[in-house]
Order: sequence, then C-alpha cells, then structure tokens
Amino acid sequence: MNKIERDFIAHHGIPASSIEDLSGLPRTEWRQRMRSTNALVSIAGAPCRAFGHRLRVSGGQCAQCNPHSLGYTRRHRSPGFVYVAFSTELACRKVGTAVDPRARIELLSREKYGGAVDWVLEASFQTDRAGDVETRAQRALKRFRQDGSYRKEGKSINAKELFCADLQQVRKAIRKALRDIGRE
Ligand SMILES: [Zn+2]
Repeated sequence: MNKIERDFIAHHGIPASSIEDLSGLPRTEWRQRMRSTNALVSIAGAPCRAFGHRLRVSGGQCAQCNPHSLGYTRRHRSPGFVYVAFSTELACRKVGTAVDPRARIELLSREKYGGAVDWVLEASFQTDRAGDVETRAQRALKRFRQDGSYRKEGKSINAKELFCADLQQVRKAIRKALRDIGRE
C-alpha cells in the first residue's frame, strides 16, 4: 500500500493487516472473498476511473471516492441484535437493530416512536451482522410497511420501520435473512 492508502485506512480505523490484495481476481471472486472474510476494504478490481484509487468496499465502489460507504458497510457488519417491538396502540411492529434491545425499546416509548408510548420487546436475534439482517428482513416485509410519524425535538420524524405484520410473519422474515447470509 502507498502512503495515501495507509493514511486513508488509518483514518477510518481499519487495521492494515486486514487489507488483502485481491487485484488479480475477477469481480465475482473478489466480492465473494470479501463477503466470506467479512472484509471492510480490499485492494480489488481495476483502479477507479476518476483517480486510480485501489481500495474497494465489498459492494464494488471505490472506498476512497465514497468514504460514506464505509460507514454503511460497517453498520451492516456490526454485531448486535435484530429486535421486534410491538405497540398495541398502533397494532404495528418495529424491526430494528440495537446492542441493548431492552434499553432501545424503552427509548422508543420515551421518544414516542410512531406516536406510541407502549412499545414492548417481543423477540430479538443475536447476530454478527445485525444491520444486514435488518435491511433484508425489512425488504421482505415491504408490503406491510406503514408510514408513521413522530415528533422529536419539535420536528416531525417519519417512522419508516413500522410494519403491520403479525409476529410470525416478522420472525419468518428475520429467520430467512439469517439463513440467506449463512448465519442459521
Ligand atoms: Zn476513487
């Protein structure tokens, strides 16, 4: 790695030892390799067209031109819980991620998430890729999505993670997401 690459990964808190040089591999192979090793960044593919950068995220983008994609990838890779919360008032469920689901659910009620104050924790699933599982499960539940809104610090906030599906449907979507990434 050159100095710019070393500075970039140091700035983003990525250990140099975790960077693999996969530049000789075809795209499908380096992406597969990055997924299986859970790598955040690798030297892979052809250098980026704009600046000739070599560091890529597993999604395929140039890491150096799209540093925000690192945050996105990292959130997806982070360990934690995917939780299911239920509000009787709304008759809807929320699927989200948290390190501490109980504390998170208390916060939902305090912040009147979706306008409700009666959130309870119904289920939680521990995984090393919480954000990934959450996104996949939410996608599978798309047809149950409800557009709620709540107020936070005087502003109206859209609650986009509300699903009017029964617990069994939500559990099924999360289990499938876990299976799809090879975690169950
Ligand atoms: Zn670039």
